Amino acid sequence: MDMQVSFLDRLFDAGLLIDTGVDGLYGRSGQFEEVIAAFERLIDRVGGPDDAEAMRFPPGMNRAFFEKSGYMKSFPQLAGTVHSFCGSELDHMSLLKCMEVGEQDWTEGQKATDIVLTPAACYPLYPTVARRGKLPSSGALFDLQSYCFRHEPSKDPARQQLFRMREYVCMGTESHVTDFRQLWMDRGVEMMTSVGLEVTIDIANDPFFGRAGKMLVNNQRDQNLKFELLIPITSTANPTACMSFNYHQDSFGQKWGLNLEDGSVAHTACVGFGLERIALALFHTHGLDVKTWPESVRATLWG
Ligand code: ATP
Ligand code: ZN
Ligand code: MG
Repeated sequence: MDMQVSFLDRLFDAGLLIDTGVDGLYGRSGQFEEVIAAFERLIDRVGGPDDAEAMRFPPGMNRAFFEKSGYMKSFPQLAGTVHSFCGSELDHMSLLKCMEVGEQDWTEGQKATDIVLTPAACYPLYPTVARRGKLPSSGALFDLQSYCFRHEPSKDPARQQLFRMREYVCMGTESHVTDFRQLWMDRGVEMMTSVGLEVTIDIANDPFFGRAGKMLVNNQRDQNLKFELLIPITSTANPTACMSFNYHQDSFGQKWGLNLEDGSVAHTACVGFGLERIALALFHTHGLDVKTWPESVRATLWG
């Protein structure tokens, strides 16, 4: 526990992360961003030959799509919604009064907008692709990056509330998407090793909410649906997930109506890089000053 606090404080002291007064909500220095940009260029070099279709969505998504995704069934504790003031001039007066007095929560009068904060980079993709019609029988591959929101405030600098996820998402037959997932597990290990990071891969599960969620956790683990690539950041005993490799079977295909040319339901898989976590793993392993990093690591990142 102490270790976590002190790594966060060291990051603040070095100016790499900027305190906003909210746990898990940080500014990032130019140097921190340069590390993320360099690592993303490494991802581009490794993934580039696959010729994925790039798309970039803002960090908010269509609330109707969010509702249909079932996120509130599985992870209600993590979701963030965007609410706004939609009242009259009179409502405005009482709002200001309420804020001045400070006894009542002024946000209670806010109304939900059509926008929800994106919980994972791939969420806006599925309805977008479904709208296009059938997928080619050879499948489809997408390259995404988005800020994501998860309501999980923490003193662990690797657990943030607004962070960036780079993802590749594959749609196709079962063997096509499971091959894709295996390819990225191998590539992930190789990439992290090339920048001097110590990695392990392990089976994992998502934090499904409540008692009913326990069943989903067991199912996910029994069927090997989720793997994580772990790197020590705040603890060597409990290394942090810096990548995840998720096989959704045909559940997203069913939900969104993703079909291949032959009419079969598409299987999907996604591979996510936690960009802040990878930068933090690099700073933790090689030191807070990029200039002192091993020459081979600097060469891989900056050529
Ligand atoms: P964890 O088990 O640590 O909560 P996760 O299983 O929730 O991770 P995914 O949902 O698979 O993570 O998200 C993909 C990647 O995004 C993760 O492998 C991780 O690198 C990153 N990530 C997830 N949650 C956070 C967070 N709160 N702060 C920073 N990065 C995160
Ligand atoms: Zn995903
Ligand atoms: Mg999580």
